Amino acid sequence: MEKTLKGNVVAESIFKTLKNQKQKRKLGVLRVGNDPGSSYYLKSITKKADKVGIFVETLELDEKTSEEEVKKLLKEMAESKKVDGILILEPLPKGMNINDLIEIIGKDLDVEGMHPYNLGKLLIGEPTIIPSTPGAVLELMKYYNIDTTGKETVIIGRSNVVGKPLANLLLRKVPLGNATVTVCHSRTKDIKNISKKADILIVAIGQAEFVTDEFIKDGAIVIDVGTNEKDGKMVGDVHFESAEKIASAITPVPGGVGSITTAMLLSNLYKL
Ligand code: NAP
Repeated sequence: MEKTLKGNVVAESIFKTLKNQKQKRKLGVLRVGNDPGSSYYLKSITKKADKVGIFVETLELDEKTSEEEVKKLLKEMAESKKVDGILILEPLPKGMNINDLIEIIGKDLDVEGMHPYNLGKLLIGEPTIIPSTPGAVLELMKYYNIDTTGKETVIIGRSNVVGKPLANLLLRKVPLGNATVTVCHSRTKDIKNISKKADILIVAIGQAEFVTDEFIKDGAIVIDVGTNEKDGKMVGDVHFESAEKIASAITPVPGGVGSITTAMLLSNLYKL
């Protein structure tokens, strides 16, 4: 296995498959407000979708739009039969709950795999839409032949979009599962002691370069999901230079998991 687990080669193979799809699809995107991060993400999705022949229809609303109006317009998009899946960009204006909007989209257009029905299926190990970031981690593991069976796997971060679904995916009774999973979070005592036992350490906390060599067992595989801006640069949740001295393999940031996420999102359109 390579020491640096690059994501672009993994993404390329997914995009190639998408490009060969005969039937073209349409992705609906809801964006409320003008957060620069979501603007950047939307541009990147549209560019990549365009390359594989997927059309993106955006519903861009002012942040002052009432919740009632947002729900009405989203319902219209969902019922229009014009889109094959809908993505809701975050952050949403204060007080607007993403779970309420996901309920409006319904399970069949839930391209991010965040509808309670789809997450429930994931929990019981049935085939379903896999949320794109955990999906990206699994694709990376598959590409680099990372064996998870029986491996002490520590995930730092328990969000609904990354940590929790990923923990459940790695627990499934399938080849890319069967891991012994421990999940840590901000209230976990002595994280270093726990993470140092991991054969596979996955970090998704949103804290720039938080994890150093002191958190890592000799020869562990380290997967960094984090994307943070530090001194004008994009860095992960893992301090790369320190971690790579002790890890047997590690994902870079940028160029690791993040490169695969959009590919997974777009391939979910076909799975829906
Ligand atoms: P989130 O919703 O903010 O959740 C962060 C999680 O990390 C929470 O469970 C929190 O614990 C935990 N945490 C925060 N600080 C901690 C600390 N010092 N020690 C231990 N646990 C800590 O974040 P997210 O959406 O999961 O995203 C996490 C990171 O991944 C971010 O950098 C984000 O930008 C990145 N991300 C990347 C991609 C990609 O495609 N590469 C996609 C999604 C997210 P509590 O639950 O106790 O608060």
